[in-house]
Amino acid sequence: MPIEKTDKTLQIIRYPHPALRHKSKPIRRVDAHLHQIVRQMFTQMYEARGIGLAGNQVHLPLRLFVVNLSGSPDEGEEQVFLNPVITHPRGSEEMEEGCLSFPQLYGPVRRPKHIRLHAYNLRGQEIRLELDDFLGRVVQHETDHLDGILFPDRMAPEARAEFQHELLDLENTFQEQRQRGEIPDDAQIARELSDWESRYC
Ligand code: ZN
Repeated sequence: MPIEKTDKTLQIIRYPHPALRHKSKPIRRVDAHLHQIVRQMFTQMYEARGIGLAGNQVHLPLRLFVVNLSGSPDEGEEQVFLNPVITHPRGSEEMEEGCLSFPQLYGPVRRPKHIRLHAYNLRGQEIRLELDDFLGRVVQHETDHLDGILFPDRMAPEARAEFQHELLDLENTFQEQRQRGEIPDDAQIARELSDWESRYC
């Protein structure tokens, strides 16, 4: 059950874990437990030296992501975005991206330069932002996660082909972990995600 599970520390999952392909439903309630989860997500993100982390990257089907562009717990601003919706995409810009679920992989991704973001914070307050900066890029990458979209999906085929080998390595590692029983089977993962959804969505 979800309550017992949170006593375990959250862990960042890696490609091709099926939870990364989960399309998260909107969150309908926020409780003390969810605040704790968000705290743990920041901790995991800092330990992994990231600047953004989405719910399904820690095996939770929760439509939220956390960001601190400084990547440091002592600097920058910690931001939490619940139920983000991106509209009014304009322009186009290519930029190098990486992802905590694809360690050491970086590649060029083309995305809109300007977006509007509508979301909520943990206190239920509305967030409305016009973004055309690095935060806008991170917001697009993280919102993609919540829809089960991963950054190599957004890369041009020629660029993606360049790290076909690394993707295969990640796939092999995943299969080995599964054979050792470290990763549950697809049916068990689906059940766990669905338990969480029945609680928050
Ligand atoms: Zn990512």
